[in-house]
Amino acid sequence: MNSSADPLLVVKDLEVTFTDQNGSLQALNQINFSIEREQFVCVVGPSGSGKSTLVRVLAGLLKPTSGSVVLDGVPVKEPRLGVGIVFQKANLMPWRTVLGNITLPLEISHTPAGEADRQARELIGLVGLTGFEDWLPRDLSGGMTQRVAIARSLIQDPDLLLLDEPFGALDALTREKMGAELLRIWRARKKTVIMITHDIWEAVFLADRVLAISPQPGNIRLDLPIPLERPRREEDRFSTDFVKLTKRLREAIKG
Ligand code: ADP
Repeated sequence: MNSSADPLLVVKDLEVTFTDQNGSLQALNQINFSIEREQFVCVVGPSGSGKSTLVRVLAGLLKPTSGSVVLDGVPVKEPRLGVGIVFQKANLMPWRTVLGNITLPLEISHTPAGEADRQARELIGLVGLTGFEDWLPRDLSGGMTQRVAIARSLIQDPDLLLLDEPFGALDALTREKMGAELLRIWRARKKTVIMITHDIWEAVFLADRVLAISPQPGNIRLDLPIPLERPRREEDRFSTDFVKLTKRLREAIKG
């Protein structure tokens, strides 16, 4: 394991090209960045710029064409413990309750049932779902469903949390509320977060740092620190500094 002063994640010369019988498409080109522990990083870019491809590579779900991803000193070659993932679609097991969905990863890793239950109930409290333990996914709202997905991603106490457009299917107000909730959870659990979003306002509100990716092939156009004070308040979204940061990101993405 690396020393805690080293970056948690180092991405070097990453390139992904998809090839099939119709030809090839370069999705990511020369991606280089590293991420410090407990940093909250957002990745923004237009649709098709390779954001989801990047998440899949970071999660070990897709092998890059070239380049490397090193997490805590160990090359990422396949999905592993230590990385939690939340996608736009939660993919909960429809016949399992909220509690049952959250304990599932622990059941798979043979954690004793009592311990799994205790950890899941603690996370249910953290994500604000106390009282809904026995509900089934079909009875949950979109925001509640994503809360379950976040709790499930945290159950194995990962160092790195990857979120791919987690609030993409929610209405604007629920989305803002979930963003604030995510910040609260991040502070409480001290995780390193990489969140993909196409919403630059959401990115500036949430992140310590935003990486702006260009249209295809995706490549980092701007690595922008967000020096806004924390905790952030809703009214910060209208401050001059906030608007200036969103403008810089907008220009970077447009190229
Ligand atoms: P984003 O998440 O930014 O919308 P994606 O990572 O989904 O972008 O896709 C980037 C590009 O790679 C797109 O042109 C997409 O069509 C292409 N792509 C993604 N996955 C595959 C795949 N498995 N095979 C071929 N092309 C793909």
